[in-house]
Amino acid sequence: MSEFFKIDPRLEKLAEQAEALCAEPFERVEAIRAYNEEKVLRAFLDNRVSEIHLNGSTGYGYGDLGRETLDAVYAEAFGAEDALVRHSFVSGTHALSVALFGVLRMGDTIVSVTGKPYDTLEEVVGLRGKGNGSLRDFGVDYRELGLTPAGEIDFGAVPDAVRGAKVVYLQRSRGYSLRPSIGVETIGRLVETVRRVNPEAVIMVDNCYGEFVEKREPTQTGADLVIGSLIKNPGGGIAQTGGYIAGRRDLVEQCSYRLTCVGMGKEVGCTLNQNRPMYMGFFWAPGVVANAVKTSIFAACLFERLGFPVYPRYEETRTDIIAALKLGDAERLVAFCQGIQSGSPVDAFVSPEPWDMPGYDSKVIMAAGAFTGGASIELSADAPLKEPYAVWLQGGLTYQTGKTGVLLAAQSMAEKGLLNL
Ligand SMILES: *Cc1c(COP(=O)(O)O)cnc(C)c1O
Repeated sequence: MSEFFKIDPRLEKLAEQAEALCAEPFERVEAIRAYNEEKVLRAFLDNRVSEIHLNGSTGYGYGDLGRETLDAVYAEAFGAEDALVRHSFVSGTHALSVALFGVLRMGDTIVSVTGKPYDTLEEVVGLRGKGNGSLRDFGVDYRELGLTPAGEIDFGAVPDAVRGAKVVYLQRSRGYSLRPSIGVETIGRLVETVRRVNPEAVIMVDNCYGEFVEKREPTQTGADLVIGSLIKNPGGGIAQTGGYIAGRRDLVEQCSYRLTCVGMGKEVGCTLNQNRPMYMGFFWAPGVVANAVKTSIFAACLFERLGFPVYPRYEETRTDIIAALKLGDAERLVAFCQGIQSGSPVDAFVSPEPWDMPGYDSKVIMAAGAFTGGASIELSADAPLKEPYAVWLQGGLTYQTGKTGVLLAAQSMAEKGLLNL
């Protein structure tokens, strides 16, 4: 019984049962946390991280040792040759866009083997709009290979699909779909399949939400580039903004030429006061990711016991921090998100409402009461009010507060008579 939050006793009982069922999956998460915390510490030690690295530079940022060493720390932890970790990436989409424009040239083809890319990338590759400077405008052809009916990579069709491609692109996390996320081992299998027919292809992975959920990153099973956001997993809830690109040295350099300018690349870019939060965030990240994964597992288990389809199920192996809960109608989605918001450390007193978000074809409701604007490594939930009427839940800086947030979401539904208890 919580002394601080009013939760229906029947819900508390279900939560207790759910938590007991989660014991074994939680143990697996803790083992991965331990491994990754050591891995990151090793990378700090090997690169002789020192107090001077925590101070930032101004102006051009020439010779910023903090910036250079952080790149090396990321590269080592991800098993990559090099990395580009910058607060000046405004988001994950920006980092992905820089990687695509950095590597692709006129006449090249990019092939996505996980169906449509994340919504915000549709404009980048040129699926929407014309004359706006998309990859398509610059003469880069985009093709995609759809997923199988089970939502998996269509391995049988990969060889034909990737022939002649300059970039083979895949998205590890499910995004706003119910398809399964793609584990690091499967990415390794894809790399082998692609290399057999197209050894020159650059295999690029949208790694958003995936970092530190497994012991290895896709760069450790052969991917050439991985890309992600620092207000998600690798920022550990501490980085204030930013993104990263890690992988083959020559490709990272090409990306750096796109981020700054040709010739200058990684040699410039002041870090202002961002080195310390970026280092500290990376240090905390494996633990924070473990808390988020446990929150996600608990939510899946509880909501399954409440009778809702959940993706993935609580005992399934994870490769990202997302739980998709199919609540079935708009009323339940709204009540759920309002409950999540009511348990946020920041702005708990506001009540989110569905709104017409630019770029979406239905109303969307979002719950986010975060220390960092829009940070989804902090407990947050998003739900487009349309079929399949599912909410995508992610984050949780600590497990207990993540669990409390999930319970408050269920409580909010119960209070409106939207749960069968
Ligand atoms: C978050 C995310 C992105 C990038 O989104 P931003 O909001 O621009 O950081 C891209 N792909 C996936 C799968 C994501 O989850």
